[in-house]
Amino acid sequence: RFIVFEGIDGCGKTTQLSMLNSALGGMGHRVLCTREPGGTLLGEQIRRILLTPGTPLHPEAEALLFAASRAQNVREVILPALGSGITVLADRFTDSTLTYQGHGRGLDREFLIHLNNQAAGGLVPGLTVLLDIDPAAAMARLRGPADRLELEQVDFFSRVRGGYLSLANSRVKPYLVLDAQREPEPLHREILAAVLKLLEE
Ligand code: C5P
Ligand code: MG
Repeated sequence: RFIVFEGIDGCGKTTQLSMLNSALGGMGHRVLCTREPGGTLLGEQIRRILLTPGTPLHPEAEALLFAASRAQNVREVILPALGSGITVLADRFTDSTLTYQGHGRGLDREFLIHLNNQAAGGLVPGLTVLLDIDPAAAMARLRGPADRLELEQVDFFSRVRGGYLSLANSRVKPYLVLDAQREPEPLHREILAAVLKLLEE
């Protein structure tokens, strides 16, 4: 099973992903966590380029770097794991491209859909967990020195958030939309219940 966490910066994806990983692992499920940009040696190098403040990057170049990271991660890590029956939890996937590079940066939607299909090799999540949050609240949660992309303003993240909500509402893929301003524990329990149901199918 392939489960993806999505949401704007500061929504708590990484925290929830690690709570889910521990819970599933404790129940004896074989689980692999990955992230993008990242997940492979190439991906982590791309991540550094993307996140370093001061790197001048045109939106088209940025989109291609995210896609390159994904293309490598899908083939090197995700598909082999899924093939051997491991549950894969991913911190971001193709919908990040549609929302950040599409709604956020205004790149052509058809181009991004095509790019996603090629990079992901047709792989589609069995469940996408969207941690939905008001951008001002999310930005207040970010800690440490901001990376290049966290320097964006609230209106950028508002567009990205709107993009996620419209993807979820389009019902093209199974989406679990949760209010990310709730406490981590009850959020975790709800995610775990949905994922266990999926794993039983
Ligand atoms: O979620 P994470 O913090 O690991 O993502 C790294 C950065 O990349 C974030 O600041 C996020 O805003 C940005 N990003 C992006 N476009 C994507 C995926 C992530 O701008 N497609
Ligand atoms: Mg971040």
